[in-house]
Amino acid sequence: MALSDTGLLGHGNHGYRVSHYDLELATKPATGRLSGKARLTVVAAAADTPLVFDLGPFRIERVLVDGKPVRWTHRGGKVRIRGRFLVDTPFPVEIRYAGRPTPVRTRYWGEVGWDELTDGVIVASQPVGAPSWFPCDDHVGAKATFRIEVTVPTAYTVVANGVLSARTSGGSTATWTYVADEPMAPYLATVQIGLYERILLSPGQILAVSRGLSRAAQHDFARQPKMMRVFTELFGPYPFAEYAVVVTDDELEVPVEAQGLSIFGANHVDGHRGHERLVAHELAHQWFGNSVGLADWQHIWLNEGFAAYAEWLWSERSGGPRAETLAARSRALLATMPQNLRIGDPPARDMFDDRLYQRGALTLHTLRTLVGDEVFFPLLREWTATHRHGTVVTSDFAALAQRHAGRSLTAFFDQWLYQPSLP
Ligand SMILES: [Zn+2]
Repeated sequence: MALSDTGLLGHGNHGYRVSHYDLELATKPATGRLSGKARLTVVAAAADTPLVFDLGPFRIERVLVDGKPVRWTHRGGKVRIRGRFLVDTPFPVEIRYAGRPTPVRTRYWGEVGWDELTDGVIVASQPVGAPSWFPCDDHVGAKATFRIEVTVPTAYTVVANGVLSARTSGGSTATWTYVADEPMAPYLATVQIGLYERILLSPGQILAVSRGLSRAAQHDFARQPKMMRVFTELFGPYPFAEYAVVVTDDELEVPVEAQGLSIFGANHVDGHRGHERLVAHELAHQWFGNSVGLADWQHIWLNEGFAAYAEWLWSERSGGPRAETLAARSRALLATMPQNLRIGDPPARDMFDDRLYQRGALTLHTLRTLVGDEVFFPLLREWTATHRHGTVVTSDFAALAQRHAGRSLTAFFDQWLYQPSLP
């Protein structure tokens, strides 16, 4: 499967775009059931092209376009709506649905999307899990603003993207409303539900964790506010209103980034900052991957290479080994691994391969040594400023780097990104 295709697994659609998702959800972790009302603000490109949305195996109760019932089908993970639509003028599409969400099973990336925890819910959708909980145009480059409202039993805390704008309680349930005004790709949308306390780490930085893990987590994330200052200095202003970290009571294979928040497992907290590298990695994704998003998954090294390099930058800025030392280690490691991956155009199977992360970071470090810090860091800041809340491809970065360097870097990027053997 080539990553330059329209979307992964046939997700993502044509003929319209969504500018806003308004999601009203209700769930009870004890039953695992979800009911939802999704109101999408849609701009169609043609009057008679059916509107097609990605949505998992829910029972659809009704579909309204501009407030009127329409004909629709729901097959193979696609909701198809026929009719005549306004062109170039936004109109609402409302889909009511219910069922027991299940994650999307994938061949290479395991199960992604809405999933049950021992007592709660986690949503980790990268790369194709979004339709497991709401109807969407599930393409990495299809950004929209969101309002996410979730009703749960009162004992639970809900964390979602954006800023908590309201929490209202009605007897046995509470409704949490989050507003994300910065455009977001559907895969980065998330809802986390658990028996969490919300702790303020510093203004704008929230930690959601259960009482049992609270002490260890507060120690492990205590340097995150400093990390935020360092990254702001290196990468430019933090691109979102707030940053939340959720630590689940369950163990997770890897932490997950979402827009404006990251999710860590109980196993990533040890009370000794044993996983601070991951704290840096996930925070860096807010600039690289979330604000500066991908137009296409082919360019995923722009997310993972930058986040992996941020780990090294944090290390050298926080008294750990210097980036140079970590680069040498990484190069030695890569030299022992098969050299058959072109990180600038990886196959779907290798999107999350460690070699892509390592070599991506090494590419950036080599670029930094080539052009010097006085060119490299202003380049990073212009990259995040120019493409803030937008989408990019690799050639955008190569062109900007070349302009900052004042010389051709064609051979450099070709060797590092498009030749399988290690330069
Ligand atoms: Zn990452």
